[in-house]
Amino acid sequence: MSAAPHTARLADRHGRVARDLRVSVTDRCNLRCRYCMPAEGLPWLAKPEMLTDDELVRLVGIFVGLGVEQVRLTGGEPLLRRSLVDLVGRIAALDPRPRIAMTTNGVGLDRLAAPLAAAGLDRVNVSLDTVDPAEFAALTRRDRLADVEAGLEAAREAGLTPVKVNAVAMRGVNDTSVADLLAWCLERGYELRFIEQMPLDAQHGWDASTMISSDEIRERLSERFVITPLPAAERGSAPAERFLVDGGPATVGIVASVTAPFCGACDRTRLTADGQVRNCLFSQRETDLRGPMREGVSDAELADLITGEMWRKAKGHGIGSEDFVQPLRPMSAIGG
Ligand code: SAM
Ligand code: SF4
Repeated sequence: MSAAPHTARLADRHGRVARDLRVSVTDRCNLRCRYCMPAEGLPWLAKPEMLTDDELVRLVGIFVGLGVEQVRLTGGEPLLRRSLVDLVGRIAALDPRPRIAMTTNGVGLDRLAAPLAAAGLDRVNVSLDTVDPAEFAALTRRDRLADVEAGLEAAREAGLTPVKVNAVAMRGVNDTSVADLLAWCLERGYELRFIEQMPLDAQHGWDASTMISSDEIRERLSERFVITPLPAAERGSAPAERFLVDGGPATVGIVASVTAPFCGACDRTRLTADGQVRNCLFSQRETDLRGPMREGVSDAELADLITGEMWRKAKGHGIGSEDFVQPLRPMSAIGG
């Protein structure tokens, strides 16, 4: 399907242009990571509230027409959407074809990696915070470490390389084993990236004073490895600061999303599973696309709603400032 040729780009008043669309395909999840949601889960969206596949592909096509070059499927847990393989195939058929990536907890990826790759998935990030079974169970409240390991292997075999691993460290849970996770990833050729924990959990349990900072992660890794920063020129505009491990060529990334925000270089926009466009993870507002779409508006009118929302994007997330307010939607409902 050819994407509608809208000329307006996804610009904001601070000079940034969005090219990376994060699409939440479901708000449901089969894990209960402590930094993300409470043990009992959340009130999930009802089916009629969710975008259908046709609606979702239509909106992604409009974003592509507005200049989006990469689409990242996320959630909730994206592998829980039954039609995911078909959705990937339909997004890959857009013209121009965007790069397609996915962020997943890896449970079920052992079965789905090959069909997803065949449908057009280009890259995958698997979230894995620890390879210690007891820590994994404590952090995710589920005993699924073996499934995630199998999912990672299947991703590599399916050619979704380089396979990337995302990790969040929580004090008193997995903060003392970050070097073990790095050693495990190095042995298997997975690219590891730590991300500072952000105030996005549904239960509002984030605390700046207990958060593990990027500096602390670096110190802990340095107890076992020689960690040296990659020159800034090689880092580019990517949010992760990358470090050579033991002189390279292996690297590890650390995203200081809280202590050194990269908002000035942000090129992201987001579509929620119920069809709201959000210009930032931390936005206090969003624009509904589902309602107007179901009332029959044109692609051009939807494009106007999207560009209008992007124009209002704030300069920065403001975590740590006195007037910072956590967004109403938790990370799992926005699409991380
Ligand atoms: N379920 C999938 C997964 O876990 O990869 C996709 C959705 S999850 C919300 C996306 C990413 O957000 C994961 O890498 C997860 O670790 C991260 N995440 C969730 N809550 C977070 C928080 N409070 N701070 C930082 N990262 C968080
Ligand atoms: Fe689920 Fe991902 Fe949130 Fe963990 S981080 S509870 S896997 S949505």
